[in-house]
Amino acid sequence: WKHAPPTLRDVFLAGRAHGDKVFLVLEEERVTFEGFARAALRLAAQLIADGVQKGDRVAIVMRNLPEWPVAFFGATLTGAIVTPLNAWWTGAELEYGLSDSGTKVVICDNERLARLASHLPDLPELQRIYVTRATEEPQGDPREVWLESIIGRPNSWGSIADRALPDIDLAPEDDATIFYTSGTTGRPKGALGTHRNIVSNIMASGFAATRAYLRRGVAPPVPDPQAAQKATLLSVPFFHATGCHAVLTPSLFGGAKLVLMRKWDVLEAMALIEKERVTGCGGVPTIAWQIIEHPERARFDLSSLETVSYGGAPSAPELVRQIKKVFPKAMPGNGWGMTETSATFTSHVGEDYELRPESCGPACAVCDLQVRDPDGNVLPPGTVGELYGFGPNVVKGYWNKPEATAATFIDGWVRTGDLARVDEEGFCFIIDRAKDMLIRGGENIYCVEVENALYEHPAIMDAALVGRPHRTLGEEPVAFVTLKAGMSANEDELRSFVAARLAAFKVPVAVTFSHEPLVRNANGKILKTELKKLMGV
Ligand code: ATP
Ligand code: MG
Repeated sequence: WKHAPPTLRDVFLAGRAHGDKVFLVLEEERVTFEGFARAALRLAAQLIADGVQKGDRVAIVMRNLPEWPVAFFGATLTGAIVTPLNAWWTGAELEYGLSDSGTKVVICDNERLARLASHLPDLPELQRIYVTRATEEPQGDPREVWLESIIGRPNSWGSIADRALPDIDLAPEDDATIFYTSGTTGRPKGALGTHRNIVSNIMASGFAATRAYLRRGVAPPVPDPQAAQKATLLSVPFFHATGCHAVLTPSLFGGAKLVLMRKWDVLEAMALIEKERVTGCGGVPTIAWQIIEHPERARFDLSSLETVSYGGAPSAPELVRQIKKVFPKAMPGNGWGMTETSATFTSHVGEDYELRPESCGPACAVCDLQVRDPDGNVLPPGTVGELYGFGPNVVKGYWNKPEATAATFIDGWVRTGDLARVDEEGFCFIIDRAKDMLIRGGENIYCVEVENALYEHPAIMDAALVGRPHRTLGEEPVAFVTLKAGMSANEDELRSFVAARLAAFKVPVAVTFSHEPLVRNANGKILKTELKKLMGV
């Protein structure tokens, strides 16, 4: 059944239909939906001419440039499995990603090429390296080709000669992507996703707000055809499932403008929200905090914001209260998801979220949740256990890791490694990662609970709790914090602050004040392994 929808090709065609509207903005570069589509088709034709066949791996290694979505869809249209790698990785880590995935073609930017250069001789499977943003044609390795010689610069994409859609059999169950997990708990694993996984996620995200209205018996607002184009400020990398599946593909499908940044900078973000009339801003919780806390926020007109949403890491209940105070007209949103669920798995918006600020919402329209005990028995509502997820966006497994796949994907359900409880109405409350909990003399301490208590203190910017080995108790809780500019707090004060809110055994035995921001990975998650190293653990 040659054109059985839905595949990413259908998402591409739906996106192209938005024509001359602006799709991608990066500084002075503005690309329309049509210009994007032409560049992607041109690249697809070139990849096929280079011998790329269905199922081959094509990697993308670049920062958030307009070329990223072109590379993603150009490769997808050939039937290749797109393998986005983390642009923050070192040369050795990139070599791991390229050899683990058995990549045939890599599309990268000049900075990443420089990092990869000394590793290229060790990657014989790599047949072609497309390089963008190089000042002159690359000559280092005979496999290198200047991407601009094929598609030109972004501002010229609208005038590229049109190319036919490649005639490739694509079915919903075909492999589409390998996204690497964030590597918070170990070495990143490649999650092998199908076209159906990604497309179903677009459908689920479109329904989240509608469902929140229906739940309250309120008719969802009818979209106004005259309303200005939606615009999203992308503050997370495309190479994570969130950036690609929760932002890029829904924006292409729905005709929203995507405002890109070379790198995250809160002042520049606020200037862009004003200039591009950004309606949706999100990413990880820290980004929302940085905007809310910024002393110069009032200088910018941020009134275009309709939604402020985030996910991917625990967010303190205090955040939704602050959003309502600072952006009274914007709808707050929070969601839980993992690379293995093609991004969004639960979503929590508007009043539902304001009323239950500790929750990350119910399962998305296309998904199902369960909480199970260590033997795999399903637990009743309200009981804490390990969260399992089921749905069309759950990937089939890990690339090249049969053991990890067998341990994580069980009868179509994914074991999330997170502890949660789900209430009678289906609202999910993430307690912590199963691994991010410590046991002090037999008492469980969920790090997130203590971190949330610290976040309620007005001086706290960032907080992380880690376990320090203790001879008799096993572990004891130690906090790392950073303070907001111009604010002060001392260790005793913070310990008493937590003691006033939580049981004594949960109070950190020590608080370390850090002048530098706490180390995070590219997805905004604090790397507790690094904090433990600081303690010599
Ligand atoms: P790795 O699996 O390589 O150790 P990772 O789990 O951080 O890394 P991701 O797939 O990017 O990689 O992240 C998924 C995890 O992020 C979830 O399992 C959960 O622990 C955390 N997470 C995501 N959303 C939320 C949320 N709303 N609240 C709390 N935690 C969240
Ligand atoms: Mg994980």
